[in-house]
Amino acid sequence: DNYLFDGLLADKLNTPQGRDAVFAVLPEDGRRYSYGDVEDVSGRFANVLVSLGVEPGDRVAVQVPKSIEAIMLYLAVVRLGAVFLPLNTGYTPAEIEYFLDNATPRVFVCDPKKRSDYEALTDRLGIRLDTLGVWKDHETSAGSLADAGLAAPTAFETVARSADDLAAILYTSGTTGRSKGAMLSHANLLSNAETLVDVWRFTRDDVLLHALPIFHTHGLFVATNVTLVAGSSLIFLSGFSPEAIIANISDATALMGVPTYYTRLLDEPTFTGELVKHMRLFVSGSAPLLAETHVQFELRTGHRILERYGMTETNMNTSNPYDGERRAGTVGFPLPGVELRIVDAESGNVLPQGEIGIIEVRGPNVFSGYWQMPEKTREELRENGFFITGDVGVMDADGYVQIVGRSKDLIISGGYNIYPKELELLLDEEEGVLESAVIGVPHADFGEGVVAVLVPRPGAKLDEAAPAHRQPP
Ligand code: ATP
Ligand code: MG
Repeated sequence: DNYLFDGLLADKLNTPQGRDAVFAVLPEDGRRYSYGDVEDVSGRFANVLVSLGVEPGDRVAVQVPKSIEAIMLYLAVVRLGAVFLPLNTGYTPAEIEYFLDNATPRVFVCDPKKRSDYEALTDRLGIRLDTLGVWKDHETSAGSLADAGLAAPTAFETVARSADDLAAILYTSGTTGRSKGAMLSHANLLSNAETLVDVWRFTRDDVLLHALPIFHTHGLFVATNVTLVAGSSLIFLSGFSPEAIIANISDATALMGVPTYYTRLLDEPTFTGELVKHMRLFVSGSAPLLAETHVQFELRTGHRILERYGMTETNMNTSNPYDGERRAGTVGFPLPGVELRIVDAESGNVLPQGEIGIIEVRGPNVFSGYWQMPEKTREELRENGFFITGDVGVMDADGYVQIVGRSKDLIISGGYNIYPKELELLLDEEEGVLESAVIGVPHADFGEGVVAVLVPRPGAKLDEAAPAHRQPP
């Protein structure tokens, strides 16, 4: 058994109807992928990787433009028992060096257009270099891996792996320091996908509009693994634009996005309630969704966006309810099987409900540590299994979790703890303010001082000296 691959796919592949079912429609080049194609193409790539010397446990690092073949490559790596390591397409060669050096992959797969940027580096590090591009951009070849895949057999004997074996290493975004490689096991990924299918009610009939990048948890694991577990299908776009969403949404039942998707869609007059009347679900995550966006979206469409909260190390931790109140400005309740507690930053003691502290989570979704960083792992992953997320939050009387900021964003000014989010919420209510960011800066007297950066609404003029309408609580 291959714990993850079988969990995602086995029951879809053992009947002819299952194999013929659509996995993905690619509106940009007119192709479609069935579940049988998923098995065949991932089998081809797995055969190619084995012929390149990739063995179970080896890392395969990938920085490629978004394509359905890149998803097949992910599944191929899982099938052969190796470890998938996707990298942000925005990273420069100088940045990539850190990841290759840290993760020592057997193979690095890059964009065919960037091959020459990486030859010297991979030579020096002794890493095999291959390429994978997007079919529609190329007349004859979509890269060395695509060519080799076409020549390889589809049949592949999937390698046995168990629950705790590594399936992927995903590096965190590096918002608070150097990026760390989160080691994710087969069971971490499968358990979370199964839970999300249940709580978000995904079925074979769903069609998810996929516009997210596939080098992060959201687009790679949440969107793709949920679809595979449910046996539903994707409308697979190369990226996000309001136009592409509007052009394709009538064939979809669900959309997963970051908050910016929703604010940009609301800027489009053609994004109407009528256009999305048939939709079943809009999910938001990866960053805070302003309550204002939630409200505007409901006014425009009648749909309440379902906000959830997760991170690279844990997949998804909380979600607003499918049935019941989706409360704006909150990330909902801990998912079934996930324990969430709020602790005092200094003492680590669990705080009473309603008090602000550090969010910790424990469950089958939580990673096993940072790749080759035992000290970082010890600092953030407690012996009792709780992961110290670094996010600051509070649970209200009804159990809804609200995220107030990050512990590293905390400003300590003259001995007072100041949470930027609390001030941002007040500033956002001021006349003429579109959005705000509050940051701490060095201050000779108080240690840290507080600075707010404001974006005015179109046409509005802001007066720095004007008194605030509301005082902080
Ligand atoms: P690093 O850990 O390297 O500093 P990062 O935490 O930004 O980087 P990610 O794992 O990509 O890396 O992001 C996870 C973080 O995103 C969470 O810890 C949380 O701060 C934020 N986040 C995710 N979903 C939400 C949400 N719905 N509301 C508020 N914040 C969210
Ligand atoms: Mg983080």
